[in-house]
Formats: sequence, structure tokens, C-alpha cells
Amino acid sequence: MKIAFIGLGNMGGGMAANLVKAGHAVSAFDLSADALARAKDSGCATFGSVREAVAGVDVVVSMLPNGAIVDSVYGADVIGHAPTGAILIDCSTIDVDTARKVGEAAAAAGYEMVDSPVSGGIAAANAGTLTFMAGGSDSAFARAEPILAAMGKAVIHAGGAGAGQAAKICNNMLLGIHMNGTCEAFRLAEKLGLDLQKFFDISSVSSGQNWSMTAYCPVPGVGPVTPADNNYQGGFATALMLKDLKLAMEAATSAGATVPMGARAKELYEAFDQAGNGGLDFSAIIKTL
Ligand code: NAD
Repeated sequence: MKIAFIGLGNMGGGMAANLVKAGHAVSAFDLSADALARAKDSGCATFGSVREAVAGVDVVVSMLPNGAIVDSVYGADVIGHAPTGAILIDCSTIDVDTARKVGEAAAAAGYEMVDSPVSGGIAAANAGTLTFMAGGSDSAFARAEPILAAMGKAVIHAGGAGAGQAAKICNNMLLGIHMNGTCEAFRLAEKLGLDLQKFFDISSVSSGQNWSMTAYCPVPGVGPVTPADNNYQGGFATALMLKDLKLAMEAATSAGATVPMGARAKELYEAFDQAGNGGLDFSAIIKTL
């Protein structure tokens, strides 16, 4: 298929390369010349504007920084410029309201669209092992699914327009909460004189078990190898966790949901980010305890 790919940064670069590997003809556009040069090296054809990249394609995929950019790229240069038969797939993590608004504008212009944010970081984007959570109609999902499958290990239909973003921010709010809880439990265990590997052995098979402990342990040398073992480099940046928690708080306000633990996790990550730690893996928040 002919696929336009907009936004070839840390995530989009690897995703577009996997579409090329799957045999698709990928037309790439990014504002960054470096990102475009990398896309060219991975087999994409590169273009000087979104409009040129989306002309005549069957599919548009985007992986952009935020909702304002997604809104402006689709509003100004995709809707009305890609063929109406093209399926539109936005994989960026953005706010639910903007995802719904862009989806409605696309539908009004005769397009099918899915919002399909991802779980998994840069390594998963490069390896083609992302998890996609997609929002859109059954027919839009059926068309998007094989494209997403070429970039991931799991593609789940979350519901109608905006449901992918809703699933993503609920999941990441929970992640922010249980990472903080896991850090607190390890620090308390330490103060109480427990051997931390022993505490891991017990809690990882007891009722405190959770992903932040068993797959992403914030304590160096305990559990599987994680960013904690690499001085909290790589992994999922604190700044991105904060972005997702802010989106979760906006969504909670908009939906009238009460999220006291999510709100506290956002405050803790905000303080950690403001102290200059935005580039560190989000498990590094254990250093504040
Ligand atoms: P990034 O900043 O590396 O890439 C974004 C790219 O978009 C950049 O290359 C930028 O030049 C380009 N861009 C910005 N405005 C543009 C425009 N108007 N037209 C064309 N290109 C434009 O960011 P990333 O880490 O690749 O993240 C992309 C999205 O994926 C974000 O929404 C992020 O929240 C989400 N995400 C990231 C991760 C991660 O671990 N990095 C994990 C899951 C989800």
C-alpha cells in the first residue's frame, strides 16, 4: 500500500521503517531535516510538505508530539488533501477531546479515522513490538488493523473515536501511581532493615505484585535488568510520564472523574521534572524518597 507517515522522530522513525520492511511504499514528512534523512536511509521516499506526502496515498499515519500539532496538521494539510478513500491513523498520545474533534472533522469530510496511541517505547517502535489501542468505528478499525499489526505485537480495538487515547491515559495514570507506590514500598522495606532482593522475592509473588515491581523494578540490582541498572538512562522519560499524567488530569476534569491518586502522582512527577530530571527514566523518582 501507499502510506504517508508524518512525524519521524524517536518513535515514528522506527515505525515507518517497519512499514517499509513489511513491503509498503512509505512517503515521509517531518519538519526536521535530520528525521527526514534517517527516514530516507530506512527506505522511505521523503517529501517537502505534508500535502505532498499525502497526495494519492491509501493510508496516512502520524506520530506527533501533542494534540495542538495533530489538530493543525490534520486540519490544514491532511483533511481535504489526502484522497477521501484513505484511512487516517493518528498514533500520537494526545488529549481525548482533540482526538474526538479531529476524528469528527475527518468523518465530516468523508474519511475514516482511528486514534491509535501506543504502549511501548523507542525500542519497541524499532523492533515492531508496540501495543496499539485503537478508537474508531468497526470498519475504520478493520482497515487500520493490518497496518498497525506491521508495527506491533498487539492491536486492540478500544471502542469509538477517542477510545484509544482514553485507554492510553487511564493505563499510564495507573502506571504513574503504581510506580510511586512501588518506590515507597522499597524505601520503607529498606528502612525496616529488609534485604531488598528478599522483599522483591516476596512481594512479586504476593498481593503487592505489579508491573513496576516485576518488569520495571526501580531498585538497581533487584529483579530484571531495567533502566535502574543503567543509572536511570533510557526507558520512559519522566517528561513523557508527566505529559501523560497531565492528559489524564485534563480528561478527569472534562469527564468529572475523581482521581486523587492520579493527581498526587502528577504533582510528584511535576516536581521531579522541574528539578531537572525530565530526561531520566520515570522510575528514577525513587531518588526523591
Ligand atoms: P519526537 O519529538 O522524537 O518526534 C516527533 C516528531 O514530530 C519530530 O521529529 C518532529 O520534528 C515532528 N513534528 C513536529 N511537528 C511537526 C509537524 N507540524 N509536521 C511534521 N512533523 C512534525 O517524539 P516521540 O518520542 O517520537 O513521540 C511521538 C509521540 O509518541 C508523542 O505523542 C509521545 O507522547 C508518544 N509516545 C512516545 C513514547 C516514547 O517512549 N518516546 C512512548 C509512547 C508514546
